[in-house]
Amino acid sequence: MKKTSLKRRGKSELSKLKAKSWAAFSKYIRQRDKYTCITCNKNLAGSRALQAGHYISRRFNNTLFDERNVHAQCMYCNMFKAGNIGVYTLKLQEKYGEGIIKELTEKSLQIKQWTPQELKDIFDKYSNML
Ligand SMILES: [Zn+2]
Repeated sequence: MKKTSLKRRGKSELSKLKAKSWAAFSKYIRQRDKYTCITCNKNLAGSRALQAGHYISRRFNNTLFDERNVHAQCMYCNMFKAGNIGVYTLKLQEKYGEGIIKELTEKSLQIKQWTPQELKDIFDKYSNML
């Protein structure tokens, strides 16, 4: 019983760190993209409806914090249009070249476990860039 609670605590520590790193990273991404939705070009500076939307789902750990996989996106495109993925694909190819989809997809398929140190480094890196 003790073991289980320790394990659970360890896990939530990591997910807390992940959430913290994500907050800094996504803030940086929205700033980098000048608060403009990558798929519909709407400018949402100062709006809570502006999010940082993944091209490849955030469920894939290895591309979670890849700057090429995440862009400013309005809530409408990100959530109600499921990422507006057709347009998102074209925009990524425009921005990074034709090979980007294959590259990100292959990267996403590699298993990745974030360590607490890596997450702290991500947090520091992007906090400093804000
Ligand atoms: Zn949009």
